[in-house]
Amino acid sequence: MSIELPEAYILAEQMNKVLIGKQIKSYDLYDYERLQKIGFLNKNIDEFDLLVDCKIISVISRGNLIRVILNKDVNLLIGPEYGGIVLYHEDNKNLSEKLHMKIIFTDETIFTIRLKGMGLIYTVKSSDLEHSYLYKRDFSDVLSPLEDRFTSNHFSELLKNSNRGIKSILVGKEAILVGLSNSAFQDIIYRAKLFPKIKGSKLSEQQKGALFRAIKNVVDDRIRLGGKFQFIDLFGKKGQYLPAMGPNMKGKICSDCGSGIEKLSVGGGQVYYCPLCQAE
Ligand SMILES: [Zn+2]
Repeated sequence: MSIELPEAYILAEQMNKVLIGKQIKSYDLYDYERLQKIGFLNKNIDEFDLLVDCKIISVISRGNLIRVILNKDVNLLIGPEYGGIVLYHEDNKNLSEKLHMKIIFTDETIFTIRLKGMGLIYTVKSSDLEHSYLYKRDFSDVLSPLEDRFTSNHFSELLKNSNRGIKSILVGKEAILVGLSNSAFQDIIYRAKLFPKIKGSKLSEQQKGALFRAIKNVVDDRIRLGGKFQFIDLFGKKGQYLPAMGPNMKGKICSDCGSGIEKLSVGGGQVYYCPLCQAE
């Protein structure tokens, strides 16, 4: 699974609890050449030396990206885009052999990152943050469902002139919100009882309200339940959130109406939906 907005938020909050004030003694990188080739790790590996001796000041997340802010204007960006395991260890027992990065703090506690597929591990000075594509994408002006300015009125306003399909409105480069993926999308439109290909301009006021609530509820529930079920948090605990709709519902029936779940191809991805509850 990919680590999305709720899981990135959980990791950042947990990192804030245990990593603040810790000073980096050393680091190791492993098996990173492929990530480097596709631009997901510093081209110049020596740039990671910036981390040594730095102290962690705070950790914030936006969209799917985590920004670890250190002193001396140094940042570590972590984007476990396609899944990955980010762990905190009290000592060096039980460390996985499959790691991309290991950071050892001066108190001998350890922080490790293992990415799956693609993802970002990037050390960068604050003045160069804009050079990171993922930073620009997620730490942007685009509204986040976790912000106070994400209100029903503001959301309706953004939907007003949108003649695109609902998926491109919510997911991807042109989205009006940051951090929602195809996985969250399926869950959200099932809860809001919307056809996966409905146009934004066709939504009634009632449907806009249902969509707003569904987004809020999916994000809030995923955070409250410790992330999606395949997610592993900073302390190795598995997430408990099972999506109401998605690939996990393949071959099953809708719990609301008993119809068989179907699949549609929408915007370059598969979308599972209930043909009755989410009729066209
Ligand atoms: Zn149904």
